[in-house]
Amino acid sequence: LDKKVRQNIWEDNNFINYKKMSENLAVVRSRLNRPLTYAEKILYSHLDDPHGQDIERGKSYLKLRPDRVACQDATAQMAILQFMSAGMDQVANPTTVHCDHLIEAQVGGERDLARAISINKEVYDFLSSACAKYNIGFWRPGSGIIHQIILENYAFPGGLLIGTDSHTPNGGGLGMAAIGVGGADAVDVMANLPWELKAPNVIGVKLTGQLSGWTAPKDIILKVADILTVKGGTGAIVEYHGPGVDTISCTGMASCANMGAEIGATTSVFPFNDRMYDYLAATKRKDIGDFARGYASELRADEGAEYDQLIELNLSELEPHINGPFTPDLGTPISKFSQAVKENGWPEELKVGLIGSCTNSSYEDMSRAASIARDALDHGLKAKAAFTVTPGSEQIRATIARDGQLKTFEEFGGMVLANACGPCIGQWDRQDVKKGEANSILSSYNRNFTGRNDGNPATHSFVTSPDLVVALTIAGSLHFNPLTDKLKDKDGNEFLLKPPTGDGLPVRGYDPGNDTYQAPPKDRMGVTVQVAPTSDRLQVLQPFQPWDGKDVKDIPILIKAKGKTTTDHISMAGPWLKYRGHLDNISNNMLIGAINEANDEANKIKNFTTGDWDAVPAVARDYKKKGIKWVVIGDWNYGEGSSREHAALEPRHLGGLAIVTRSFARIHETNLKKQGMLPLTFADPADYDKIKPDDKVDILCTQLAVGEPITMVVHPKDGKSFEVPLQHTFNEAQIEWFKNGSALNTMAKTA
Ligand code: SF4
Repeated sequence: LDKKVRQNIWEDNNFINYKKMSENLAVVRSRLNRPLTYAEKILYSHLDDPHGQDIERGKSYLKLRPDRVACQDATAQMAILQFMSAGMDQVANPTTVHCDHLIEAQVGGERDLARAISINKEVYDFLSSACAKYNIGFWRPGSGIIHQIILENYAFPGGLLIGTDSHTPNGGGLGMAAIGVGGADAVDVMANLPWELKAPNVIGVKLTGQLSGWTAPKDIILKVADILTVKGGTGAIVEYHGPGVDTISCTGMASCANMGAEIGATTSVFPFNDRMYDYLAATKRKDIGDFARGYASELRADEGAEYDQLIELNLSELEPHINGPFTPDLGTPISKFSQAVKENGWPEELKVGLIGSCTNSSYEDMSRAASIARDALDHGLKAKAAFTVTPGSEQIRATIARDGQLKTFEEFGGMVLANACGPCIGQWDRQDVKKGEANSILSSYNRNFTGRNDGNPATHSFVTSPDLVVALTIAGSLHFNPLTDKLKDKDGNEFLLKPPTGDGLPVRGYDPGNDTYQAPPKDRMGVTVQVAPTSDRLQVLQPFQPWDGKDVKDIPILIKAKGKTTTDHISMAGPWLKYRGHLDNISNNMLIGAINEANDEANKIKNFTTGDWDAVPAVARDYKKKGIKWVVIGDWNYGEGSSREHAALEPRHLGGLAIVTRSFARIHETNLKKQGMLPLTFADPADYDKIKPDDKVDILCTQLAVGEPITMVVHPKDGKSFEVPLQHTFNEAQIEWFKNGSALNTMAKTA
């Protein structure tokens, strides 16, 4: 068990440590004394302190040591900029960056890619040079979608990966706990801080029977999403098991794990089996498969392990599903879909069918889809609706180009897009309908929220298997059920489409295609990270100032926010996304969505130094310029929503000291601490009402100690000062973050 097996073919010095994982598990087992689910085994074998860690599902916060980090290009920018500010020579844990989100689909793969490379040049140059400098593997634009590349190259059974993208769980198809996180978490792991996760509950999905005919692996997750709904997996890992698992291809399992993100699950996992072994062998990692076989008993649930919830699915009875529109958990079996279209008045004509994406672009998916297109072509038919194909990786593109599927799609009338996210993330210059015009599209993607694909809120977007996408594209109608409905061939004769067939793995092996990987150079000292000082998309971060050791007196309340203040209110998305790598520019959206209690308006607050009303970021900048720190007063669950680190970086950048609220969303609270801010809560939530927007406050920072309250002295504009006790959740290590100015400054000091 203590063989030296590399994690992947690209990195010489990163090994899989099954021995250590096994030892950690033995420690945990002796403490818990009960059978463990596979999801637990993966997590607990990565504990920072298996001896001392509290372990209670759904309650404890686990401190974990992931094996790897992966970032996509939109989220990598700020993560790497932050990492750079820590002043370390290289990442402490294996990391890769993948260029996939910034490529717009317009006229087809090659030209779209060339255009994206020119538009995003400064971002790509920055990422590529920073990766070279800090020992990070860099997958250039055109290489493919992050999750497909991870599955093909980096995922391994029993591993723990965090990725700055919500569909990171795709790696569960290879038995890995692959978890989507915010940039701040990725930075922690790059900088060698342990990563914290609330110990998830475990939802078991027991699969029996066997898939056949038109039913595809995707239908499993479409059905599970229908059962559990978009919130049903929150705080839980979905663990598939049972004899049905062995009947699904590895890439099919990945599709199910990928779309588990749609039910809010932390991640989804499948136990290691021969299908995974075959995939590892086909992707040049037979040694990992052999190693995992030696450790197989730890790569599945223990006999008698208990789940917090159990769902059973008989694959032999599972019907193909179509989910949507507007939400991925509205599932309809194909036999009832036509009726549902009528009853709900969904637009009947299918305008566009889209296959591929990180969810469904495996060799098997493409082969099955091509078999249906070929059947249609043999009957003299082509796609009636527009049709696009997004290969998930350069390897898939090259392999299906070699083996003929790509040619079939083109003959069928398809447009082959770049190996990138494209229409799945709204990077789609769609011309066939006007904004506001109701229409239907059908994709093999995972997410179908309003406007996600084309920015048109009237587009009814449905998700399904690639098989059904192709079939309905032939008919051009949402009323078509390929299992029962006949089509007319070119001579007017009726025929039934044949159920799809296709190899799970390419018989001739994968063709790697163009070389799209940039390994870190041996000599990294001479590499300069490329950031133009004039750039408005990228800005090198300066470390935040350490605390001066003093209480802070008589400072203003920038805004007293009323009601819901989510991370979207604090740092809006949409048009601001392009400034994600430029802290100063993106700070112009700070708190612009929060409602000011003084006037019930958003983005209009009073500057106490001038008496003028102005935008929140403008006032904060003015205070900063004048050397005046400030606080925000917030309501319940401040910072709920996402783990977006910009929501914590921006107030810190613009001179904020503390955010004082009735309560915090936990991730945002931690993010604030990481950036050297003070997230504080009213000991008595009713004290929130005693504060007026134009009061001044003292924050007695010198009182900061574990478990001790902090005093805020309030100086009302008219009236007597009074004290308000505040609470906090800082531990010893986090207090150091505040003192040093940030968690990264603290890491830099100890590195
Ligand atoms: Fe996300 Fe879609 Fe890209 Fe997958 S293809 S990573 S779901 S944007």
